[in-house]
Amino acid sequence: MKKLDNLYEINEVELKHSFYDACSDKEFREYVTNLDIKEDILMKYTSSLEESFLEYKNCKKCPSLDKCKNKVKGYTYTALEDKGIIEFSYVRCRKQEIVDLENAYKENLEIFEMPKNIKNANFKDIYTDDKNRVPIIKYFKEFIDEYLKENNPKGLYLTGSFGSGKTYLIAALFNEMAKKKVKSALVYYPEFLRSLKASFNSDYSVKFDYIKKSPLLLLDDIGAENCSNWSRDEILGPILQYRMENNLPTFFTSNLTLEELEKSFAITSSGVDKVKARRIIERIKQLTKTLELISKNRRN
Ligand code: ADP
Ligand code: MG
Repeated sequence: MKKLDNLYEINEVELKHSFYDACSDKEFREYVTNLDIKEDILMKYTSSLEESFLEYKNCKKCPSLDKCKNKVKGYTYTALEDKGIIEFSYVRCRKQEIVDLENAYKENLEIFEMPKNIKNANFKDIYTDDKNRVPIIKYFKEFIDEYLKENNPKGLYLTGSFGSGKTYLIAALFNEMAKKKVKSALVYYPEFLRSLKASFNSDYSVKFDYIKKSPLLLLDDIGAENCSNWSRDEILGPILQYRMENNLPTFFTSNLTLEELEKSFAITSSGVDKVKARRIIERIKQLTKTLELISKNRRN
């Protein structure tokens, strides 16, 4: 036991030594004094305290969040006292708090098989150099107005050339609506069908229901999928039917015109069924106004 006591003593001397050593830095001394924790506790944590002091200093000099020098961006490694024990944890900084608050509306947007950055599409960034966008922007303004008045406005069937900005435009509208607390789902339709099929034994009906009932819905790139009887009659048909009956605005983007889409829906690997294809197109027509966006390809 004697030996063990000795070890503790040596250890304590060392702890004291390294703590007072660190305290020779006036700023560090001030920092730990401000924590209002007893010295004999503080000295057990010198290296962690030094680390949190470094982050505290980074924060004091921080010009903006993108220049954050801390280990975890937007967070400060902080010493917190609880009943005589110090705990260190990453605490969100004020600048990060503001950004999070500003971005909270994005929670209203759910994306399925789409790149995350689509949530950054912004009304203010819509190119205005392109006259072809004017009718679409005009439609958006009317849509927002009518939706907020609960007048059940129609969605949009936006057809046009590849890379012209169709997806971006609708995403920007949904972002704007998200700021007004309206929830929406952006779905990359061809990939969504694949993932839905793959989730047959798991969350299939949850996903399907979510899309069906989302207050605003974008089915992006419709017509680019491999159409089957299943996708046409079991998925798309019921989604559109439900949304018609419940006045839920539904948006589509496609490289195909409605006539071309009808042809693509008529032919599946199981044969030709013009009536079923017609029925789908009728539902889309009921749900939407058609606009075209022909523009240069903005993809690089
Ligand atoms: P489409 O759906 O018509 O094929 P996208 O919406 O994907 O085209 O747009 C093509 C590219 O151009 C994307 O990378 C998109 O982010 C960008 N883009 C389109 N419109 C804008 C805009 N108004 N502001 C910034 N980027 C845009
Ligand atoms: Mg697109």
